[in-house]
Amino acid sequence: MSACLFCKIVDRTIPATIVHEDEHALAFQDIHAQAPVHILVIPKQHVQSVQEAEDGGAALFGHLLQTCVKLAKRQGISESGYRIVTNVGPHAGQTVFHLHFHLLGGRPMSWPPG
Ligand code: AMP
Ligand code: ZN
Repeated sequence: MSACLFCKIVDRTIPATIVHEDEHALAFQDIHAQAPVHILVIPKQHVQSVQEAEDGGAALFGHLLQTCVKLAKRQGISESGYRIVTNVGPHAGQTVFHLHFHLLGGRPMSWPPG
């Protein structure tokens, strides 16, 4: 069995509030939401980060980003705007080493990020 937290969410070993599932992607509510909408969009297949994706990376990233856009529409934040973030490695503060896009919205956000 995988030791990876998000692989365990994919195989339903640990619970999550899942908002979308398809052949290649899963999306669920972040457990420590940083905004009224905070959803994580992940590949079902284990990939550590955008850096580690293999040949199919472009198609996979495209699919995950399109999923973020669809979910933003469904969550009603398309007009107000939103942010899509993926953290890579220590300086970005990545804590879960299974690729994920954060979809954040529902409040104004500052820039630059901390
Ligand atoms: P990152 O810091 O970019 O690696 O983001 C990891 C995210 O996963 C954080 O926003 C956490 O709040 C979130 N997270 C950690 N454990 C869980 C979990 N069991 N269910 C949902 N989200 C989680
Ligand atoms: Zn994993």
